[in-house]
Amino acid sequence: MNILVIDDDAFVLKLLKLQLANLGQPEVMTCESANDALEALADRQQMEIVFCDIQMPGMDGVELVRHLAHMEFQGGLVLMSGEDERILSTVQYLAQAHRLKVLGALQKPITPVQLRGILQGQASPAAKPRRADRKIYSVEAVASAIENGELINYYQPKVSMCSREVVGVEALVRWQHPYDGLVFPDQFISTAEQNGLIDDLTRLVLLNALRHCRDWQASQLRLSVAVNISMSNLVSLDFPDFIVKAAQDLDFDLSLLILEVTESQLMQNPLTALDILTRLRLKNITLSIDDFGTGHSTLTQLRDIPFNELKVDSGFVHDAGDNASCRAILEASLDLARRLGMKSVAEGVENLADWHFLSRLACCDVAQGYFIAKPMPAQTLPSWIQEWQVRRTGLTE
Ligand SMILES: [Mg+2]
Repeated sequence: MNILVIDDDAFVLKLLKLQLANLGQPEVMTCESANDALEALADRQQMEIVFCDIQMPGMDGVELVRHLAHMEFQGGLVLMSGEDERILSTVQYLAQAHRLKVLGALQKPITPVQLRGILQGQASPAAKPRRADRKIYSVEAVASAIENGELINYYQPKVSMCSREVVGVEALVRWQHPYDGLVFPDQFISTAEQNGLIDDLTRLVLLNALRHCRDWQASQLRLSVAVNISMSNLVSLDFPDFIVKAAQDLDFDLSLLILEVTESQLMQNPLTALDILTRLRLKNITLSIDDFGTGHSTLTQLRDIPFNELKVDSGFVHDAGDNASCRAILEASLDLARRLGMKSVAEGVENLADWHFLSRLACCDVAQGYFIAKPMPAQTLPSWIQEWQVRRTGLTE
């Protein structure tokens, strides 16, 4: 492998070169400055891995990242620092935003185990391809999808951290498009929102969710079901009555319904929203503040609206074990939920490390994320639950 190491500290260069040679990588070039490195890279674009110290006199790591992005560097990048972990993760974020392939962001000194992981990461085939060109659909197309019943619900399971039992699901809308296949909500929700279709869309998702949830109950699966609503849904005062009527028609127990509320823009009519939300709570529906910690899901909302569940945004959960800032925000959010007598849900549990970290914290009620399961069609859920029953027994700790 062609490897380049950039560090202003000659000792670090020597050490890394030696460590890499021990791992069967003798082809290591070293540079004491980012300027020298850029020259070398201009000559040898095929460099497969660049290790870069982010704190260097002259050109620093942030500038180098910018240059690498500019030259459309295709190899892997490893950022190193002896400094604050937060600076390191910000540089990592910057590099990823520039679409560079970041293989790692490591505190010095770097261990042989870390190096081996990085070499393996670069040798493995490219990560998941980006989703093909995202088509944005017209208002007419979205309206007819709603009308023709082309919108369907997928469900992502949620698991109790204490019992590891499946306790509920979150309904996530998909568009079963006649030609384009399965279309994700980021391709049509904002069109619906901006053109007065979001209310119809939400009511459709809600009705489907209540129906599925009732069917599961009939087959002895008592699960809660969460439906996402945005503050822009909360403009018609009859919204709670609509839900109560639907639940009566379907003989559905409303204590199983959770409404996950997000606010993408400032509330236009806060009193109406508050009226509706309070009545929903009076009907025994759980109100969850979604994506807590981001956007408008703020402490003010927590103070003013009678939420009884707090959903910590995945950005604070995934990799929290390795990121001190995420860890602090996650712990504080969970503590806040507990002190306010709210249930807590952590989104973004993507791997075993996330799961272990969360279970060690011992104060989060429910977990959700790819590690447990991806969203799935309603009919797949019962068989997935059977598989989980086996899998969960292996998740000791
Ligand atoms: Mg949600």
